[in-house]
Amino acid sequence: MRVPTRREFLRAGGALGAAAVALGPDSLFGDVPDITRGARPSSVPGLEVLHPRGRVPLSFIIDDSTCLVNMGHFCMPQFAEVWPEREDYKKPWRTWPREIPDDFVREFGEWCSGHGVRGKYSVVPNPACVGWLDRELPGWSRSELQASLKLVRELMLPSWDIHPEMITHTRLIDLKTGRPVAEVSPLTMENWYPQGDASVDELASYIAYALRILRNCDLPCEGITTPGGFGGGAEASLSRAVGEAVRDVFGAEIPHYFKYVAEGDESTHPRVEHVRGLGSNDPRLVVNVPAGAGDWFGGWEGDEPSRGHLYADAEAKSGRMVELIERGAPAIMYCHWPGLYTHGTKDGFRDLQKVVPALAGRFGDQTIWMKLSEIARYQAAKELTAVTREEGAVALEAPFACPDFTVRLPTRSPAPPSIRHDGHTVPLKEARARRDLSSGTWLRESEGATVCFDLRKGRTVLTVRGVWSSRAITSSRKAYRHSWL
Ligand SMILES: [Zn+2]
Repeated sequence: MRVPTRREFLRAGGALGAAAVALGPDSLFGDVPDITRGARPSSVPGLEVLHPRGRVPLSFIIDDSTCLVNMGHFCMPQFAEVWPEREDYKKPWRTWPREIPDDFVREFGEWCSGHGVRGKYSVVPNPACVGWLDRELPGWSRSELQASLKLVRELMLPSWDIHPEMITHTRLIDLKTGRPVAEVSPLTMENWYPQGDASVDELASYIAYALRILRNCDLPCEGITTPGGFGGGAEASLSRAVGEAVRDVFGAEIPHYFKYVAEGDESTHPRVEHVRGLGSNDPRLVVNVPAGAGDWFGGWEGDEPSRGHLYADAEAKSGRMVELIERGAPAIMYCHWPGLYTHGTKDGFRDLQKVVPALAGRFGDQTIWMKLSEIARYQAAKELTAVTREEGAVALEAPFACPDFTVRLPTRSPAPPSIRHDGHTVPLKEARARRDLSSGTWLRESEGATVCFDLRKGRTVLTVRGVWSSRAITSSRKAYRHSWL
């Protein structure tokens, strides 16, 4: 839930004064304090890592989804309790549907899968304290709950990362008792917790608790979403805590999280944080994946008019997604699940059904839909694969495997490049155009040779004739500056 954004709060003059600004529930990407990046390996000038298959990554982040419970209806009275003066928490939540039915999940999931949409779908484990998804959900039968979880596993999991959005998205849970803490204040709400430094251990325990409930539901996770401003004031600790908790509960190789929204000209590239143990057989890192467009499909409560054109208009000539794609930057839109359902009118979903085909119509062969975990993996491989120059070749030492890894090398030779890994040569076919690039192909362009392949963990040697001629390197340097990192 990201209402209002910190920037909007500041613009509004911070109704509660300067101290309240720190309690704004959102974090913008440009405001992220320095989080340790950690080590980086060697690179060589002239070699450029492009987007996968040379296409701009697209993704769709959905917050505040869970099984059956309409978070708009159930969260609002708990938010109003701690912010009694806030007008936006005085809406008529009693009149709103308490349920977002599985029929809607099915309709949405099937449509998205038919259109190739991929992204992140939250499943709040103890939504607004209503019940526990791995036990009972009061208001629904056990079989309804189990059918709802089965639907998420079978329909959503293939195309969507599942994230907990902490435990309740409302009240802080006492991990010793499993009950909401007694005191009611912003500091005992997940959205505003902790507003000061908290230890990595404390945050990791909390996140792991949420993850374990989803593990009990057979929902594997490689990342988490922070509810609103969770982790505010403890950003660096939060990042490390995500890494520890996700590795601990699910053994994920590349943990990631969603917390920030990049606006204006802020970079939408993921940040690879807390890199340690590079070169060992157990490298550690966390990837911070920001959204870049939203929240315009009906708001977190589901009662706002949907404004899908702000992502892309009917011809994909304007809109934030269009702007990002034209910039060549990852274009990740986000919204809230109650907004898509829009109290049953489905106005938000109908707008999505205009935005996605519009983007496909104009940019279909220049973009690629990805889950957040796939975007995180690509960025990790891009930044952490060591590159060294060898005679007529490039050696890559990859800490992680990565599908569709795409590099451009400075050469003017028409000879096909070759790839060797573990004693095996990977055959490459020449692609006729950029849109035909896929794993196992290469493309001759004026800037050099672009090669797309499934990067395997360990050492790979790319042999490319004429690769290090000085003329070739100079001509590729300009492009290199724009797209490396
Ligand atoms: Zn949320």
